[in-house]
Amino acid sequence: MSIRTELQSAREELARYCQRLAADGLAVGAAGNLSVRVGSRVVITPSGLDYGELTAGEMCVVSLSGDELDAPEAPSSELPLHLAIYRTTEAAAVVHTHSAEVVALSVTRAELPAVHYAITSMGGPVRVAAYARFGSAGLAAAVLSALDGRRAAILQNHGAVCYGASLADAYDRAVLLEWLARVYRLARCYGAPRILTDAELAEVSAETRRLRYGERRRR
Ligand code: 13P
Ligand code: ZN
Repeated sequence: MSIRTELQSAREELARYCQRLAADGLAVGAAGNLSVRVGSRVVITPSGLDYGELTAGEMCVVSLSGDELDAPEAPSSELPLHLAIYRTTEAAAVVHTHSAEVVALSVTRAELPAVHYAITSMGGPVRVAAYARFGSAGLAAAVLSALDGRRAAILQNHGAVCYGASLADAYDRAVLLEWLARVYRLARCYGAPRILTDAELAEVSAETRRLRYGERRRR
């Protein structure tokens, strides 16, 4: 596939997921942002525009160092955060949400604990990164440190960031993270939740790998 075709399909995929982000209630209005890595380039949503109305032609192409290569609109204000994740992890896509359950958790807790074994998809309990202004280098640094050994982080008084091996993978992780935060809140209504141990989580990860869980036999 030529780079032109790859960039075009990334733009189209982003537009489809913007619709889902709005429909699934993971962000309201222009909040949140999505990006996909295509080789040494990153395709990212524009800043401050309503997700329900975004089109493929409005997505922005930048280099890994942040130079605008083809940006019909201003790239997302969280570009420094997305680029920092691409530079330091194996991420192929990044999803930033303002979903209600994780935001509610972020204002009082330092971590989302292992209330369910599915948290192994995040790499373990999910840390809450210290508050810093949206779009700042300080926020990117705080999130990178919270992401150590994880594929998701919660941003204090702000939202969440997940990454993955594809946009579908990163997006599914954002939906799962929101569900886990909801389960934690519901569990606390009954009393003190029982939390899975590191050994129990390690056992789940080993079995998931052994079963190749979630992979089709025939592709
Ligand atoms: P953008 O509209 O600039 O992407 O910003 C939204 C946001 O979520 C900031 O953290
Ligand atoms: Zn945000």
